[in-house]
Amino acid sequence: MTVAGRDGGFAFGGRLSLDLTWTLRYRAVAPTELLVRPEDLRRWISAAVAPVRAPVDPGLLPEALRLREAIHAAARAVVDDDLVRERDRRTVNDWAARPSPFVRLDRSGGTTVLLRPGAEVESALAAVAADAVDLLATRDGRLRVCEGPACSLLFHDASRPGRRRWCSTERCGNRVNTTTYRRRRAGGRSTS
Ligand SMILES: [Zn+2]
Repeated sequence: MTVAGRDGGFAFGGRLSLDLTWTLRYRAVAPTELLVRPEDLRRWISAAVAPVRAPVDPGLLPEALRLREAIHAAARAVVDDDLVRERDRRTVNDWAARPSPFVRLDRSGGTTVLLRPGAEVESALAAVAADAVDLLATRDGRLRVCEGPACSLLFHDASRPGRRRWCSTERCGNRVNTTTYRRRRAGGRSTS
């Protein structure tokens, strides 16, 4: 349901549950919250899942953040080959049990994803949680932490070779390569 790319400060890697964890940037060094207001959550869901038409109930923002942190903690446990904590598992499962968005056949033959009327945000979070269940149960050794400097975003490597080290080559891969290049050049100069 997500597309790789950027939208208004948000980044998307194509994995819905991990994309939600990406809304807290630079966790390891300088945590930066991208979901500050209910409006931010509305924009994120509209970009990641489907357009939100009704105003977002402010009480749903802390709920979304709680789900996000449960997914993040559970994913870190999987990366570290640990058991997922009971309360994180429960949070993810509770949300995954709620009604998800639905797909409608268009006149043109395409499809449109629609959030549940009256429970738009809840259904979007249910879709996020369902993706998390699928991801956390996979245990294929391809759930990783980005090696980019200060990045620490989680990603799932769906590439055929399965040797990805960065959340995105453009964002972190190039930065690492540039840093290595600069270091090499600096090293070269100091020895000359
Ligand atoms: Zn990264």
